[in-house]
Amino acid sequence: MSVLDKQLVPIFEEVLDRNPGEAEFHQAVREVLESLGPVVTKHPQYADSAVIRRLCEPERQIIFRVPWVTDSGKIEVNRGFRVEFNSALGPYKGGLRFHPSVNLGIVKFLGFEQIFKNSLTGLPIGGGKGGSDFDPKGRSDAEVMRFCQSFMTELYRHLGEYTDVPAGDIGVGGREIGYMFGQYKRITNRYESGTMTGKGLSWGGSQVRTEATGYGTVFFIDEMLKATGASFEGKRVVVSGSGNVAIYAIEKVHQLGGTVIACSDSGGYVVDPAGIDVALLQEVKDERRGRVSEYATLRGDTVTHVADGSIWDLACDIALPCATQNELDTEGALALIRNGCQIVAEGANMPTTPDAGRLLLEAGVRFAPAKAVNAGGVATSALEMQQNASRDSWTFEHTEDRLAEIMRGIHDRCLETADEYGTPGSYVAGANIAGFTRVADAMLALGVI
Ligand code: NDP
Repeated sequence: MSVLDKQLVPIFEEVLDRNPGEAEFHQAVREVLESLGPVVTKHPQYADSAVIRRLCEPERQIIFRVPWVTDSGKIEVNRGFRVEFNSALGPYKGGLRFHPSVNLGIVKFLGFEQIFKNSLTGLPIGGGKGGSDFDPKGRSDAEVMRFCQSFMTELYRHLGEYTDVPAGDIGVGGREIGYMFGQYKRITNRYESGTMTGKGLSWGGSQVRTEATGYGTVFFIDEMLKATGASFEGKRVVVSGSGNVAIYAIEKVHQLGGTVIACSDSGGYVVDPAGIDVALLQEVKDERRGRVSEYATLRGDTVTHVADGSIWDLACDIALPCATQNELDTEGALALIRNGCQIVAEGANMPTTPDAGRLLLEAGVRFAPAKAVNAGGVATSALEMQQNASRDSWTFEHTEDRLAEIMRGIHDRCLETADEYGTPGSYVAGANIAGFTRVADAMLALGVI
C-alpha cells in the first residue's frame, strides 16, 4: 500500500470505523485518497472545509425489500439498494447491478467511484449507484419482468430527471431497463424519458448508448497509444468478460486494426487466434443468453475453451479487464508483465487489486483506471438525457463523434492534471485529482451541505 498524506490518515480511519465490513468501499476510498496528498498540500481549503470527509459520506442510502413470485408460484425476497452519493454537479447518475454478490459495500464502492468518473466527463451529472442481490441468470423473461416491476415499485419514488437517473450495469441490460421504465411510466402516469438511460431506440434511447462503454474504453486506449506515436494496428488484445462492455470493446478494437484473441465469463475463457467473432459472440450472449463455452463449440476447431486457469496467462500487448471488481490480482499482473503486456486499461470498475496495480506500474506497464477509461458509458447516458430534454435524437455518427471527443478530453485532462501535480504520465493520479477538484469546488460553492 502507498503511504497516505498525514492529513488524510484520520479521514481514512473514520471511513473504516463508520463503514465496517465494506472492504470494496474502503478500497475505492483509499485509492482516491492516495492521489490527493499533493492536492491538500497545494490547496489547504480542501482539508479545512472537511470537503473530503463529506464526500466519503453518501447523501442518502436507500435499502428496500423486493418480493416477487417465480413461474412455479414460489415467493422470493431480494434486497434492493440505491446509494445517492453526491449531487453537487447534477442529479445522481449511475447504473443498477443485479448480481448475487451485490451488498451495501459493493454499491457504495461503485457509487463513490461514480462521483469522480462523472465529474471527469465535464458533464452535469452527480454520482449514485444501485442494484440488488437478484440473479437474473437462469430466470425466465416473465420472472425477470416481475422482479423488475417489484424493484421499481419502491425505487420510483426516489427517481426523476432532476433527481436520480439510473442506467444498466452487470445483469441489467436493455431487457431489464425496459421492464423497469415500463413500471415507472405506469406508476407515475408520466412519460419521463429522462428518468432512466440505456433505453431502447424507439422509446427514448440514444444511438451508441449500448456500445458506449466498450467503444469509449477503446477510444481512451487509442489516445494512450497515439500519445506515444503508436496505434492499434497489429496489437494482440485480451479482454475479460463477455457482457456489454467486453463485446463492444472487442468490436471497436477490431475496427481500429487490433485483434482480440480471448474473452471470458465466470465459467472460463476462450482463445480464438484469428480474432473473436463479435457477431457470433453476440448471438451466444444476447440471443441465447449462453456461455462462452458455447461460442467455442459453434466457432469450431481452431478455438479452445479453458475452464480452469487465468485469461491473464495469455501473451498480449494490451489487456482489458471488462468483467468485475478485483478480477486481476498479483498473479495475473505478474503473468502479464512476464509476457510483455504494455498497456492495462480498466473497462470494468476497479477490476485490478491495489497490489496488482502497483506491480504493473513498477514494471513500466501503462495503467489506466476505470474512472477515466470506462466513463464513456455514463457520458453517453448524459447525452441521452440531453436528447430526451430537447425531444431530439441524434444520428449514430454524430453521437459516436461526441463520445470520441469526450474520451479525448478525459484522456488529456488526466495527463495535464498529472503534470500539474508533479506525477507526469500517471493516469491514476490525473483521473483522481481532476475528478476530485471539480466536484470539491462545486461543493465548496454550495456551502456546508
Ligand atoms: P454484463 O452483465 O453485461 O457482463 C458482465 C460480464 O462479466 C459477464 O461476462 C460475466 O460473466 C462477467 N462477470 C460478472 N461477475 C463476475 C464474477 N464475479 N466473476 C467472473 N466474471 C464475472 O455487465 P457489463 O458488461 O455491463 O459490466 C462489466 C463491468 O463494467 C462491471 O464492472 C461494470 O460495473 C462496468 N461498467 C459497465 C458499464 C455499462 O455501461 N454497462 C459502465 C461502466 C462500467 P457471467 O455471465 O459468467 O457472470
